[in-house]
Amino acid sequence: MIKTVKILGKKIKIEVSKGMDDHGDFNSAKHLIRLNGRDSKSEREKTLFHELIHASLFIGGINELLTEELEEAIVRNIEHGIFPILKRLNKNG
Ligand SMILES: [Zn+2]
Repeated sequence: MIKTVKILGKKIKIEVSKGMDDHGDFNSAKHLIRLNGRDSKSEREKTLFHELIHASLFIGGINELLTEELEEAIVRNIEHGIFPILKRLNKNG
């Protein structure tokens, strides 16, 4: 799994952690995404995509326009709508 990404020029660290209850989270103060090491690789990739959307909304300042509930709904919509297509693109080139 990759250890860092850049979103809109900002570096985001990615860590796999075994001591967490959720699938993952994004710490905006630390610019850190944590993924649950007990999840399967494909589950972690899906979670990473989800948390990257949160990170991008934060870095773009869009999250300030949203309630937490609305942000989560948007992130889940993009995750469920787009991630399966990205997986297919990745497989088929
Ligand atoms: Zn979320």
